[in-house]
Order: sequence, then structure tokens, then C-alpha cells
Amino acid sequence: MYYHKDTIFFIDGHWAKASETNIDVFNQTFHYGIGAFEGIRAYHSTVGMSLFKATEHYKRLINSAKTLHLKIPYSASELVEITHQLLKKNNLRNAYVRPLVFMGPNMELTLKGKPRLLIAAWEWGALLGKGQLNMLISSYPRPDRKSLPATAKLTGNYTHAILASYEVRKKGGDEALMLDVEGNIAQAPGANFFLEKDGVLYTPPEGHILPGITRATMFEYAREFGFEIREETIPVEMIHEADSAFLTGTASEIVGIQSIEGIKMRKPWQASMGAELASVYQHRIRRGEEHGHHSIV
Ligand code: PMP
Repeated sequence: MYYHKDTIFFIDGHWAKASETNIDVFNQTFHYGIGAFEGIRAYHSTVGMSLFKATEHYKRLINSAKTLHLKIPYSASELVEITHQLLKKNNLRNAYVRPLVFMGPNMELTLKGKPRLLIAAWEWGALLGKGQLNMLISSYPRPDRKSLPATAKLTGNYTHAILASYEVRKKGGDEALMLDVEGNIAQAPGANFFLEKDGVLYTPPEGHILPGITRATMFEYAREFGFEIREETIPVEMIHEADSAFLTGTASEIVGIQSIEGIKMRKPWQASMGAELASVYQHRIRRGEEHGHHSIV
């Protein structure tokens, strides 16, 4: 599904096919979830292939690895260049790129040896015709940052995300809304949360959330278009006062929310501030106006 026998990966400084990646079944990431990763989108735009904010993603990867005391022997700009080559080698234009920092074989609970680096990519077209989401609040809160670096993009941090999605989908919801350990709204399993009320956008402050690159892009657009965004704690009760709400993330892009716990948003999505931001976002990714143009066509 994600690759075939001739797919090329970048692994530990080399280009290799899947059969040549030499991934040990006793690797520590596989067993204990110690690793860091990213998700980056490549869009086929009017100026050629455009990687959406790849430098920001690789800086986050380097920082996530640092929280595990792991050093990646490349700079963010070197990793961006390697990614362009990877897409070219695999003849990919609309793609999802998955860099993963993982460990070698070690069945002890110790940090030993150098981390390994894999960069893989697969074809991923536009998610057309996305509907608005009916969200349910999950009983799994975001992990407590006193226990682990919960605001870094670490492989082990996704166990609870999978459980939250499973729980909510079983109850008939489209997506989970997760609270922080203090009981305020935090985010979705793989996307950040925004709420519109009386012409102002609210989003939870950094601390319990993964600070998303799409979230940061919303701040840039808001400055440009004169929208006010407040980073403020969002108590659950605020859902009752929401005119609209939406999620942001590399995979989901900007997706509107129809209801939370059965409470419908007051405005139709098309009339919301989120829909305006989403239309700018769509326009810019298709025109390659975000960072990282690189023509491979
Ligand atoms: N939160 C989590 C837990 C995520 O995995 C992601 C996806 N990377 C996001 C938020 C959204 O971040 P971004 O906009 O950088 O994709």
C-alpha cells in the first residue's frame, strides 16, 4: 500500500529499496516506542513540486529527537534537499513524506547507540470532498508532560491517540476531541483545534498541545487578513458559545467541525472564519506560494 519493490528510501545516509533497509526486528523503537517522526506534504503546484514548510518540519524533527537526547547528523536544510531528491527518485508529486528517527537493536531500557534515520514517501492526492466533522470528547486526555515530552512528535506519544480515535469512532463520532490533563480542550489526535466566537478565533496555548505548523500558518494568515486569534485556555463549556470550529494539520489541512458532543456550531461552515482561512490555504498550496518550491517537473 505504501511502497512497492522498487520504491527508494533514504536510510542512514544511503538510498535503498525496502529489502535493503536492514531494519532489525529487535529495534528499540518497535518494542518501546522511543523515536521521533514528522509528516510533510508535497503538492504538485503551478510552479512545480512544492514541499509545504519542510524546513519548519525538519527543525521540529531535530528538536523532537533532542528531547530523547538523540542527535540527527543533518541540518534542516540538508534534510529538505534530501527530501526533494527522494521525491524525484520515486517520481512523486503529490505525496506524504515520513521521516523517522529510530533506534537499533536493544532490548534494555537504556539509551545506547546512534539513532537511525529513515525518510520514506508515498503518493497522496488531495482529500477532496471532505465533510465537516462530528466530534466526541475522548476519555483519554493528552499525555501529561510531567511523564514524557508530550509536546514533541514522538512515536510513543501516539498510543493514546489511537485509543482515543478507536473509542470515539466506536461511539459513532468522526474524530476525537481530547482534553488536557486539567480538563480543558486540547486538540484532536493528530490536529490542532480552533474555535470562533463573536468574530475572534481561540486556540489552546502551547503547553499541552503539539504546536502544529499548520496552526502557526493560521497565525500568519490572521495577521495578514486582520483576524484576531487568542491563545487561551478553552474550557469545555465554551463549545455552547461556539459560532464555528475547525482542526488544522498537515494531513487533514483545515477541516470544519459540524458538532461537538452533539452540540451544533451556530454558523454554517461556509460562512465561518475557518472556511475563509481554508480557502486561502488551498489557493496557496496549489499555487506553490508556501515555502520550499523546487521544480521537479
Ligand atoms: N497534533 C498532533 C499530535 C499531530 O500529530 C499533528 C500532525 N503533525 C498536529 C497536531 C498538527 O501539526 P502540523 O500542522 O504540524 O501537521
